[in-house]
Amino acid sequence: MSKKLLLKDAHIEGIRYFETYRKQGGYTAAEKALKMTPEEILEEVKTSGLRGRGGAGFPTGMKWSFLAKPEGVPRHLVVNADESEPGTFKDRYLMEFLPHLLIEGMLISSFTLGSNVSYIYIRGEYSWIPDILEEAIEEAKAAGFLGKNILGTGFDCEIYVQRGGGAYICGEETALLESLEGKRGNPRLKPPFPAVKGLWERPTVVNNVESIAAIVPIIDITGAEYAKIGVGRSTGTKLISACGNINKPGVYEIDMTITVEEFIYSDEYCGGIANGKKLKACIPGGSSVPIVPANLLLRTVNGEPRYMNYESLADGGFATGTMMGSGGFIVLDEDQCIVEHTMTLARFYHHESCGQCTPCREGTGWMHKILKKIEKGEGKMEDIDLLWDIQRKIEGNTICPLGDAAAWPVAAAIRHFRDEFEWHVKNPELSQTQNYGLANY
Ligand code: SF4
Repeated sequence: MSKKLLLKDAHIEGIRYFETYRKQGGYTAAEKALKMTPEEILEEVKTSGLRGRGGAGFPTGMKWSFLAKPEGVPRHLVVNADESEPGTFKDRYLMEFLPHLLIEGMLISSFTLGSNVSYIYIRGEYSWIPDILEEAIEEAKAAGFLGKNILGTGFDCEIYVQRGGGAYICGEETALLESLEGKRGNPRLKPPFPAVKGLWERPTVVNNVESIAAIVPIIDITGAEYAKIGVGRSTGTKLISACGNINKPGVYEIDMTITVEEFIYSDEYCGGIANGKKLKACIPGGSSVPIVPANLLLRTVNGEPRYMNYESLADGGFATGTMMGSGGFIVLDEDQCIVEHTMTLARFYHHESCGQCTPCREGTGWMHKILKKIEKGEGKMEDIDLLWDIQRKIEGNTICPLGDAAAWPVAAAIRHFRDEFEWHVKNPELSQTQNYGLANY
């Protein structure tokens, strides 16, 4: 059984409220941290090996150490709660059921970074959660854990919640900052990076909700103890939101030592494939990471068991790489049509492209159009090669990672499931009435 650090108290009635959270030991990590120096806390975070939980997996302590500190210029912490990646809903769970864990993590992080005004930028569709967060902020303030002169330390900190307008691209950190400044959420060219010029051109750290919540147990048990959980560079615990054709969709906390097979089939987690079907494929880290066929998902190319961690999921067999990503684990059973699935994703990325760069703006639209044609049985064999060519021209040629995120699923689908694309071309009549999965398994 995986060790629980973040969700250990999630089942307790009333844990959303300050009184209950405090009774369970809440805010003791903040009390401990505020007696330390910011440098000592930073060392603990570095020692913990915590990697950003939003998708990129960049070491949090290193990110914090890049923060510029020019004399007299305010610095900011911004929590990225714009969780819009298809298949990902673990931050929603944290904010909805454990808002004080996030607020406590923000207090410790703000103190470390020297941010007196910090923000939570939350996805617009999570319309009921800002009220929960704002209530928690008020409670923390009333108890002296936010506001002026927190716990007599002389440190002031305010937290504000900003609702997004429903654009996926605002999950990209520089688009988020633009939106937070009240502008259209277009990604910025980097450099300069937010650590030097972020919100209102001030040094800014943007971190995911789960990353900031993880600061609480790190301070609580120490960075060294946190680093002992997990394996290699995949330290600590990770939240996974599991969905698709499984018996038990939900949010699970794992310690990254379990195998993918155990995660899918064990009753403790996904409980196996729904309706007794066979596993066909999986997208292990949200829609932006490549789809992986069952044989490569359960075992590495060397025949070793594949583990639910950053290194093992990226190990061999995937020319474009795959990763933990945002922790959105989407399972597809044998009845699913990969072409239809890829087309749905292409439509999403085309819709969400901000339109600033030509390869993304035009390429995502072309990919969607061609996939639609193939899926309806109106495609030609050359269309599959054209699709391949378009995704190659998008990858690496755009301002922000949305271009890559749109290209990778198409590349992986063609690489691993080309026979399905060809089946649609060869069977135009059948592909209008059936999907490949139902017709072939
Ligand atoms: Fe906008 Fe797409 Fe370019 Fe990102 S890659 S800046 S979303 S057009």
